[in-house]
Amino acid sequence: MRANRTLWIGLIAPAAVAFVAAAVWLRRPAADEPAVNERPGEPGTYETRFDAMGTRGRFQAAAPGAAAARRMFGHALREVRTLEDLMSTYKPASEVSRLNRLGADGPVVLSRDPMAVIRKSVEVARLTGGAFDVAYAPLRTLWRRAQNDGRVPTDADVRKTLETVGSDKLIVEGDTVRFGVRGMEVDLGGIAKGYAVDLATGILQREGATAGIVDLGGNLRLFGEPPGGGKWRVEVNPPPGATEDIILALPPCGIATSGDYERYFTVGGRRFSHIIDPRTGWPVEAMPSVTIVAPDATTADGLSTGVSVLGVKEGLAAARKAPGVECMIMSRRPDGSLEKTMTPGFEKLIDSVTPLRPGPDAAPAGEAREGG
Ligand code: AMP
Ligand code: MG
Repeated sequence: MRANRTLWIGLIAPAAVAFVAAAVWLRRPAADEPAVNERPGEPGTYETRFDAMGTRGRFQAAAPGAAAARRMFGHALREVRTLEDLMSTYKPASEVSRLNRLGADGPVVLSRDPMAVIRKSVEVARLTGGAFDVAYAPLRTLWRRAQNDGRVPTDADVRKTLETVGSDKLIVEGDTVRFGVRGMEVDLGGIAKGYAVDLATGILQREGATAGIVDLGGNLRLFGEPPGGGKWRVEVNPPPGATEDIILALPPCGIATSGDYERYFTVGGRRFSHIIDPRTGWPVEAMPSVTIVAPDATTADGLSTGVSVLGVKEGLAAARKAPGVECMIMSRRPDGSLEKTMTPGFEKLIDSVTPLRPGPDAAPAGEAREGG
């Protein structure tokens, strides 16, 4: 009896304590795993929200439990942050910042992802007749300076800057990029979020998620079937002055909305869009809202920015040329009211159009909101 108790206290109890501690330690969220919650009314569907790439993000996925969701969301989020570290021009150590410093001196080797984004960007530039162009960035620098100085650039300044603009002056060879003209710069801000969405989606799928949503600042990828089956219902973020609430019913796809109402800058009291027309050198009179549905989020992101530059007629024509792409543009009439124009295929994606109910929760519960 006594020997038994000694054995229990001396050996088994510490082992039991160690076992419990190890179990707790193993189940704890790792330091870089995000907090997840199960969506109310949707058992088995988990979500997490985060900030990345200068915007708000959200992952939603069907997973076998909270721990599994935490693990896959952690991996997908790490991928998004890695892509940001590689491609952000706000980070001096990023590969794209390095390209911008050294690209005129000779070929700069880039890793797989920045290279893939640049190749895709050149494709979207062709599709949009150069309206979408990641090599527009010297204009961004020009207009930032204008903002600091408080006056718009002179025509001569714009003309001179345009000599360093255009992806036709990018020399893309193997895994290298070189600038054909000194003074060139690239900025992947109009397409990198969509690319990150596609890569994060791939990770969630590889790690067992059968369905879900990846959203980075209004660039979405929908995969699998929504909880309860059928199509994904996504609300188009209504621009200011919208009187209608548009809900789309979508198969798995990429979708992006660009709008001029969230990001802009002012020079000498005038308000300018953050989207610049590489053909004129001037910020565009951006569309209140351009929504693109495409096979993937990279295409949707690039095209939504490009169509914002092109305007209604040219923009729709460009969208129609792209395989699997549908487009809806909300433009402003002279009296300030909004006018919707869309490709015939987009019409078939509209689930409902109802008078807009005020307030931030215009979408019925459980729906993805989508914004630009
Ligand atoms: P989005 O919010 O996807 O429409 O992208 C807007 C961002 O694209 C801007 O903040 C810039 O970083 C970048 N951008 C602006 N003008 C252009 C352009 N003409 N072509 C490609 N990217 C652009
Ligand atoms: Mg875009």
